[in-house]
Amino acid sequence: MKNPSQICLMGMDRAEVASLVENEGEPSYRAQQLLEAVYRQRVDAIERISTLPQQFRTRLAKKGVSIGLPTVEKRFVSEDGTVRYLMALADGQTVETVWMPEGDGGEAGDGSEAGDSSGEGRGWDRATICVSSQVGCAVDCQFCLTALLGVKRNLTAGEIVGQVCAVLNDQKVSPPEDRTNLVFMGMGEPFLNYDNFMKAVRLLAEEVGVAESRMTLSTAGIVPRIHDFGEEPVRPKLAISLNASNDAMRTELMPLNKKWNLEKLMAAAREFPLRNRERITFEYVLLRDVNDAPANAREVAELVRGMRAKVNLIALNPGPGIHFATPAEDRVAAFQKILMDAGIPAFVRRPRGRDIYAACGQLKRTVEIATAPAT
Ligand code: SAH
Repeated sequence: MKNPSQICLMGMDRAEVASLVENEGEPSYRAQQLLEAVYRQRVDAIERISTLPQQFRTRLAKKGVSIGLPTVEKRFVSEDGTVRYLMALADGQTVETVWMPEGDGGEAGDGSEAGDSSGEGRGWDRATICVSSQVGCAVDCQFCLTALLGVKRNLTAGEIVGQVCAVLNDQKVSPPEDRTNLVFMGMGEPFLNYDNFMKAVRLLAEEVGVAESRMTLSTAGIVPRIHDFGEEPVRPKLAISLNASNDAMRTELMPLNKKWNLEKLMAAAREFPLRNRERITFEYVLLRDVNDAPANAREVAELVRGMRAKVNLIALNPGPGIHFATPAEDRVAAFQKILMDAGIPAFVRRPRGRDIYAACGQLKRTVEIATAPAT
């Protein structure tokens, strides 16, 4: 385990790096050199920042300053090309980050660049990294494997940005030249770690070079933070995990609905200030014979009616300890059709990496899987 008193550069913004440089009595241009090394070149150790004089590197290292790039502890490769990373953090905790070379269709029709770039053989336009915001999760959704872990702790801004940097390094891609989408849909509830999450977003946009229009956040419905999020000058697109078509059902599936029910949630969504061409995404996990009936689709259509929104349907990804089943394909298609007929854009998200426990709702740090991990 690393020294917990370590100071990490990863996660520091321009002002913080500048003040570190000033405290060291170094010329101010060193701040830019450090930022470039950490977020653009994504160097993994201070000793390897070749733009800095050797004695400054040594001095920083002696003071306990490190880069703070998470290390890839394990790497699982799916037959569909998806890669699930188990990332080790400085205190020995682990989180998961997923690389989807062609995305999962989740961006389709959301009115953004990321959603509209399409076409055969242009996989790079859709490469997507799914990022975690907490170790575990406190929200307790009944169909999600991450919930079974409970929440261990929040991730720091550096650990959130660091996941992205580690995957970019491993995949040898570099934004903005290589277009990369980010979805904050990994382990945890980003709106229960709001400040660290938002700081990470700003660093990703300003320093790493991923446009905000290429980022999407998903929330289980922390209503006050939806309001705050709408006021942010730099922010990802908003996705809301709806998952039920009425309050009774939603409270059963997502206990947080007792605190923020559908009326409050949909009011926040309706008031949300959308940018040009932007749409809100509602995610809806389809659970066989629970929330997948035509009547449920009609209720969803009523909830969403009149909004600039789209619905992403996700057939349940199964897992041990999850007492729900995946609906048949024709049920999913029928559900989609009812929404489309009501004038609501609806897309079926492709499951990615189910064989390696990388798909939506499957992130629980599984290490033992049937297929051999590629390390
Ligand atoms: N906590 C945030 C971010 C995680 S996003 C949120 O809930 O939105 C993860 C998405 O996967 C959510 O839309 C969630 O509803 C969905 N999901 C959870 N468990 C799932 C499962 N077993 N199968 C398919 N989707 C699932």
